Amino acid sequence: MKQVYLDTFGCQMNVADTDRMELLLFHSGYIRTGEAQDADLILINTCSIRDKAEQKIYSLARNLKPLKEVNPDLILGFTGCLAQQEGEQFLEKMPFVDLVIGPDGVEHIVRLVDEVKEKNVPVVRTQFDTDTNYKIPELSGETPLKPGSTTFVNIIKGCDKYCTFCVVPFTRGREKSREVEEIEQEVRLLVSRGAREVVLLGQNVNAYGKRGLKRPVPFHELLYRIASISGLERLRFTTSHPKDFTRECISAYQDLDILVNHLHLPVQSGNNRILKEMRRMHTVEEYISIIEELKTAVPDMGLSTDIIVGYPGESESEFEDTLVLMEKIKFNNSYMFSYSPRPNTPAQDFPDSVPQSVKSARLQRTIELQKKLTLEQGEKFIGKEVDVLVESESFKSGADFRGRNAQYWSVNFTGDKRQISPGDMVKVVVEEASGHVLRGRGVL
Ligand code: SF4
Repeated sequence: MKQVYLDTFGCQMNVADTDRMELLLFHSGYIRTGEAQDADLILINTCSIRDKAEQKIYSLARNLKPLKEVNPDLILGFTGCLAQQEGEQFLEKMPFVDLVIGPDGVEHIVRLVDEVKEKNVPVVRTQFDTDTNYKIPELSGETPLKPGSTTFVNIIKGCDKYCTFCVVPFTRGREKSREVEEIEQEVRLLVSRGAREVVLLGQNVNAYGKRGLKRPVPFHELLYRIASISGLERLRFTTSHPKDFTRECISAYQDLDILVNHLHLPVQSGNNRILKEMRRMHTVEEYISIIEELKTAVPDMGLSTDIIVGYPGESESEFEDTLVLMEKIKFNNSYMFSYSPRPNTPAQDFPDSVPQSVKSARLQRTIELQKKLTLEQGEKFIGKEVDVLVESESFKSGADFRGRNAQYWSVNFTGDKRQISPGDMVKVVVEEASGHVLRGRGVL
């Protein structure tokens, strides 16, 4: 078999797309290798959400160039969001590259690789598919992929929200959902191959099913249907948008035991003027109201969020409103970034009035506050028993296994290796909290 080297930058959707390419290529005679120098085909699945990721990818491309020089038959391709964003320009910057493919090209990877081989010219494929829904056809036969105890399933791609700072609507296109039956079939298959927990994935999962399907299906209905699949022990989803987060979804948390008590709900800012400028379509008060309702319904809900500091025009007091909100909600975890302008986005044209030094200082204060909140939240678990889905053996000293609890804390724990295996659900008594990691002792 020929060998393909795959590398992924960015979000879980990219990880899922890379897995899909591996599967499609396997069926056309490629096996994955961990060594780029052994490969006949190299595919780098890219991200363009932030400038830093973009710079890293261009640097990697330059580092891969010598492999093309020693092996002219090597096919070197870049897929994903940066490839979509740059298109032909990527080739102009990196003329030794053979393939530039946007996210909608994933399903066509085999044909596109063949096209490069046959025509011996670079191929760029960045048009969006015209289908109204999103299909990931099942492949029959042997597979190189074995799901872990936790596995990811795409349910929707693209985004219609057009937040002013975000490239996603330009790189992933408009929202398109998968038919429920297709998702159910994939989950059943993954469960039959050993998956215990499924994470439903999309840029905005709560927008699932609004159009393009045989019949509209609200997101909460999908949750109930997936939760009824036999053998599935845990269900999660990410990412959500506050504007689309419904009361029915809160009820689903109450009704469905396997829907774990964790929600990642990006807020981005704690100030209403900045939220409006970002075109987030909700206020701070509306965000707080969702969280309060949710915490009333499910008191031990774990919460995480995304935060951007230093958005164009953000004043010191507007920034401090974000700190106030963080203190109020007490997030377990936050993904925190300082704003950087992205190509094609409306905010790119706004005067970037916050100096880099101020952005960095604000980011540091946000990180420090989150560290404190994480520690406070983690310490609440000490002495308590939590259910941990075992993902693997642990490489940490003093721990035998690692996994996650319902609230998405990483848990390292000691336990009997003759009795515990990945995929098991184990009761662990928490003895220590450090950063976003809990440590404890398995009690079965
Ligand atoms: S909702 Fe999320 S993915 Fe969509 S535009 Fe806004 S930040 Fe980007």
